[in-house]
Amino acid sequence: MTRISGCLLLACPHCQAVYRKPNYVSMNFMAMYVWTDGYREASLMPPGECMRLCTQCDQIYDIREAPEVGSLTKEEMYEPPPPLPPPEPEPTSAWGRFRRWMSRTARRRPTRTLFPDLRADLPPHAEWVPTEQAQQRLEALLAEPHGSNPNAREFETELRMRLWQSGNDWFRPLLAKAREEQATVPPPWTQTDAQLENLRGLKALFLAPGRSQHDTMLLVEVHRQLGEFDEAEALLETFAQDHEEAEYQRLLVGKRMRHVGRYPN
Ligand SMILES: [Zn+2]
Repeated sequence: MTRISGCLLLACPHCQAVYRKPNYVSMNFMAMYVWTDGYREASLMPPGECMRLCTQCDQIYDIREAPEVGSLTKEEMYEPPPPLPPPEPEPTSAWGRFRRWMSRTARRRPTRTLFPDLRADLPPHAEWVPTEQAQQRLEALLAEPHGSNPNAREFETELRMRLWQSGNDWFRPLLAKAREEQATVPPPWTQTDAQLENLRGLKALFLAPGRSQHDTMLLVEVHRQLGEFDEAEALLETFAQDHEEAEYQRLLVGKRMRHVGRYPN
């Protein structure tokens, strides 16, 4: 099960705005449906693990490059604000004045040195990246020399995956409906030139050595969506006969289908 214990406070590397991010103690990668482009429907884990949008400076940043500036426990996050002290009558005795000074001093001591007013105003959540910004960031990333960013390759993969999956979103409800109605033919599938270009970019990234089995299956999908069925078939040879995802991909490749699919479950 996914368990969260408080949150981490991260600063945007561009403008130092502070954001919070759940601090995962354990993670559950279960999803209701898994799609062939890697999209996990109704997943307990959010997508786009490393990319966030800074709403203050409008830049996308990699969460691994955001310095951690503090953390909050669950108790600290949900601690109710302290009640307002009732108006006190002006003390007449010296003892009364001393007590009042004591209680004021105690109240003034910050419970959190970093963000003393945090209870009243928690920093906003670090937000996921909307599609348009992912496209812009990808263009900027491709324009700058890759050597300057150690995570550039991974970051490019994430941005491209984000664009790929969001570009396929329109088809998901159509396919789900066709499945429900037990239609024999899938709904018509189309891809824009930009989507095909992005797929070619992803292919180049996945073709690099040191690829995981998960990425190999995504490469099968990229080949299939590009209509490169021979390449997809050759890669599927590397999977066991009873591999469930490979079995479904073999079916789609056999029928020369290019649409995004949903693995049977
Ligand atoms: Zn920023």
